[in-house]
Amino acid sequence: MELNKDIDQFDIPLAKRTYLNNPNSTLLKKLLIFSPFLFLMFSFVALRLIRNVELIPLNNLKLQVERNHDARILGHLPYNETSKDKLVLIEPNIEVHIDMRDSLLKMREEAKKDGIYLVFLSGYRSINLQNNIFYSLKSIRNQEAAERARVSAPPGYSEHSTGFAIDIGDATKRETDFETDFENTDAFKWLIKNAAKFHFKLSFNKDNKYIDYEPWHWRYEGSIEALKIFESANRKL
Ligand SMILES: [Zn+2]
Repeated sequence: MELNKDIDQFDIPLAKRTYLNNPNSTLLKKLLIFSPFLFLMFSFVALRLIRNVELIPLNNLKLQVERNHDARILGHLPYNETSKDKLVLIEPNIEVHIDMRDSLLKMREEAKKDGIYLVFLSGYRSINLQNNIFYSLKSIRNQEAAERARVSAPPGYSEHSTGFAIDIGDATKRETDFETDFENTDAFKWLIKNAAKFHFKLSFNKDNKYIDYEPWHWRYEGSIEALKIFESANRKL
């Protein structure tokens, strides 16, 4: 009791705790309570932003690499013009790469033995000529470039510029020249069966997703040079 009495004698001033009722302090209290949530939200937004910043350029880069690797324009791969000294005339108006000549003529001879008459429609075409074909036909037919590109390569993108491409028709069915209907001729059926023996391959078959089917258009792949030129075309359809 004596001790309590002593304690009672001390005058302990009570701090006036009024700040919690202060409107500013209430806001501070609320902020303190919600701060972990605010922090989480901020972190989430920040992480999303960082991820987007990193991902967007990476995606662009990936697309760019694919584009550069492929280098197609309107579905056609680029081809250089072969040098003039590698070209030989096999018919009036038809020049081809010298490496392909013997094989091509031999193929026609062999077909003849089977009663099939192949006719060569178009061989080497300079980029200039391809330019005329692409742009004049485009305007005559009033086609958009993309539309035209399904049936004709833009200049600089034609296999014909390499000298290793040949358009073939059936001498007994000239109405099917450059027509999908050529696929119903005996010449086409013979080519499908025999062209590979002479290292010829159909360039734009029905599976090609970029370019319309061209049963008349064949390319030569019987030399290292030709194989190198058509490597990209063979890698991707
Ligand atoms: Zn062609």
